[in-house]
This record gives sequence, C-alpha cells and structure tokens, in this order.
Amino acid sequence: MDLSGFKYIVVGAGLFGTTVAERIASDMGLPVAIVDRRDHIGGNCHSVTDADTGIECHVYGTHIFHTKRRRVWDWITQFTQFNSYRHKVLTRYDGRVFPMPINLTTINSFYGIDLAPSEVEAFVLAEAARDRVEEPANLEEKAISLVGRPLYEAFIRGYTLKQWETDPKNLPAEVITRLPFRHSREVDYFTDPWQGIPLGGYAEMFKAIHAHENIHVFLNTDYFAVRDMIPADATVIYTGPVDRYFENRFGELAWRTIDFEREVHPVSDYQGTSVMNYADPDTPWTRIHEYRHLHPERDYKAGGTVTFKEFSRHAAGQDDPYYPVNTPADIERLEQYRQLSETETNVLFGGRLGGYKYLDMDTTILAALEMFDEKIKR
Ligand code: FAD
Ligand code: UDP
Repeated sequence: MDLSGFKYIVVGAGLFGTTVAERIASDMGLPVAIVDRRDHIGGNCHSVTDADTGIECHVYGTHIFHTKRRRVWDWITQFTQFNSYRHKVLTRYDGRVFPMPINLTTINSFYGIDLAPSEVEAFVLAEAARDRVEEPANLEEKAISLVGRPLYEAFIRGYTLKQWETDPKNLPAEVITRLPFRHSREVDYFTDPWQGIPLGGYAEMFKAIHAHENIHVFLNTDYFAVRDMIPADATVIYTGPVDRYFENRFGELAWRTIDFEREVHPVSDYQGTSVMNYADPDTPWTRIHEYRHLHPERDYKAGGTVTFKEFSRHAAGQDDPYYPVNTPADIERLEQYRQLSETETNVLFGGRLGGYKYLDMDTTILAALEMFDEKIKR
C-alpha cells in the first residue's frame, strides 16, 4: 500500500468519511485515500444480502434515511434513488402490540377507552399531574411529566432499562426527547419530507459514491498501523474514536454496543413490520428487526424470512461502539479531548466516533459538507 502521493487521507469509510472524500474527489478534483479497518465500506450503514433468504439486511441495525434538509437530499440523490418505505414501529407489552411512538391509538388501547384527538391532551395532563415534578431532572421524571406514570411504566421503563442497563432515574432527560409523543393517530416514525431506503440498498449506494476515479479505498487497514506512511503535509480527516486517537490519555469514553441473534423462519412474514420493540423488562432483547419489510417494492421469494434480535450491553475491548453513554465523566473527558484535538495540526475530527455523538445520517452528511466548505476546500 502506497499513501505517499496523497494530500488527503480519510480515516473511516462510513458516511462522514465518504461524504468528505466525495467532495475532495469531485469538487476539488484531487485524489483522496480512504482507509478503513473493516473489510467493507459504508461504516455502520452497511448492508448485505442474506445467504438463505436473499433479503437485504442492515448489518449494524435498521437504517432509515430521513431528512428535511434540501442540501443533504440533493447530495445523496446523485448516487441513489429511494423507495417509498415509511418507518413504523410497534411495541409489544404484556402480550399485546401497540403503536410506538405513543399516540392516540396506543393510549386508547392501553386504557381501553375511546378518546377523540381533542380529548387526549387533557387526559394525559391529568395522568401526568399525579406524579409530575416541576423541573424534571432525569429520564424517568421527564417521561412521567410527558405521558404519566402508567404509560411510562408500560412502554418506557422496561425498554430503557434494557437499552441502558441502568435505572432511568440515572439517565439524562434529553434521551427521551428523541422519542416523539403524539395526540393524533399518526403512525409514521419520522415526519421528514424525504424518507426511504436506497432502492439498490446501502451497499450499492456507497459503491456508487466510491466509484469516483479520484477515490482510492484501502480496506482491512487500521490507521494506527499505517500512520507513519502518511506524508507530513497531508491533511487527515479522522472519523474513528477520538479517545483512541489520543491513546486514551484522559480515559476511555463509554459506549453501548449491540449483539444480534439471527434466525431464519419458514414463513414469508414473521412479525408483520420491520421493527418490533419489546417493552417488557423480562424479555432480554430490546427489539426484533425483520428486514424484508424495508423493501416493499422487491419481490422477495415467499416462504422464508430472516430476523435479528437485538441485545444491548456495555461496550468493552474490541466491541463496536454504537451509542455514546454520556455520563458526566464522559462529558468532561470529551471536552478535554475536544480541546486537544483542536491543537492537532493537519488533522480534522468528524463523524459520530470522532465527535462522540449520536448523529443521524442526514446530520452526518450535513456536518461533513460543512467541514469540507469551511476547513478543506481551497
Ligand atoms: P461510522 O458509520 O461508524 O463509520 C466510521 C468508520 O471508521 C467505520 O467504518 C470504522 O471501521 C472506521 N474506523 C474507526 N476507527 C478506525 C481506524 N483506527 N482505522 C481505520 N478505520 C477506522 N441514522 C439515521 O439517519 N437513520 C437510522 O435509522 C439510523 N439507525 C441507526 C441505528 C443504530 C443501531 C445506530 C447505532 C445508528 C443509527 N443511525 C441512523 C446513525 C448512523 O449509523 C450514523 O449517522 C452513521 O453511521 C455515521 O457515520 P460515520 O461515518 O460518522 O460513522
Ligand atoms: N424508548 C423507550 N421505548 C421504546 C423506544 C424508545 O423507552 O419503545 C426510549 C429509550 O430510552 C431510548 C430512547 O427512547 O433510548 C430513544 O429511542 P430511539 O428509538 O430514538 O432509539 P434508537 O432507535 O436510536 O435506538
């Protein structure tokens, strides 16, 4: 492998690194090298075709593209079209299935009542008022102030315990604000104007971006193993974990990781939806993914489907980092790493690992486009 001729080296072939590399390659017209320690491009958005069923599966969990940003949409649709999939999530609690996020249908089924949309606000306010605290200081207090204790206990407490392995009282209130709560019967998980799954799948979308003649990809290549080969005047765009870059000088940042358990079923539809959450604390998995539902336009053969049970746990050693834990100690460490990274010459830090931040795909693309505009383009 020869990196000597490159003025731009991107570490990580995920969405952030790929977006920056594409801009360098086509806007600046310059060669760019991408190194990734994995054996595939696409980072956590990667997809593969399941060998038994032919169904396209998202290796690191279900990924739905959704955005309200025209700039992001215009950029990504140069490389793929999207199908008409609209994400809907159901949740299983006490042997019954309900729409998630909590909406009017969830409330009516759960309480066995028949409220109209105009009545739901007053009902939920009265429920929440019983246990409400003035200034919710953690996830539990925040959730109860939004939906009341019974709905919290049923749909949020158990799921959150499993996802974070800690009492919701120990989690920041913001985590729950990612989850919408509706007074209508709206079941779409996202409300953005542009949504879907790449028609040819994520793997093909990344292949199309990386096809540019100026982009040179080196897989199975850890940056730290080739660091010495990088020319001193090259600009490095680093999208790996920021703590690892600095050899964990201030300590490791905590992440949650996910394990998946694959099962093939001799039926064409196992659960009737792409993602089923499991709210019961006694069921060990958090959700089940059934990927055939993400491509309603495809003619997958009947008589076989594949599912992935998702289990959440603390990341250790070589485990893949998925969700930043963000304890107060993490937030303090991150600030130390952030200050240190600003003093590093010729290295730019980006992406979800470089910034220790949960980023949706569209936010990732926008951040990469802005980094290119502000710090790379000449
Ligand atoms: P990554 O995709 O993680 O890419 C980073 C790359 O860097 C990896 O390929 C890694 O191998 C490589 N790397 C790291 N260290 C090194 C090193 N030392 N040397 C070489 N290479 C290295 N977003 C949505 O918009 N919709 C969704 O439905 C959605 N679902 C998600 C579900 C889950 C379970 C998770 C965790 C995230 C989800 N996301 C979703 C977010 C999405 O995955 C991210 O926005 C996206 O992956 C960020 O891209 P990235 O390039 O920053 O990181
Ligand atoms: N959550 C919950 N019940 C659910 C789904 C989510 O309590 O059925 C909570 C949980 O605390 C989770 C947070 O809402 O961490 C954010 O959920 P989201 O669906 O955004 O998580 P993701 O899809 O990113 O895993």
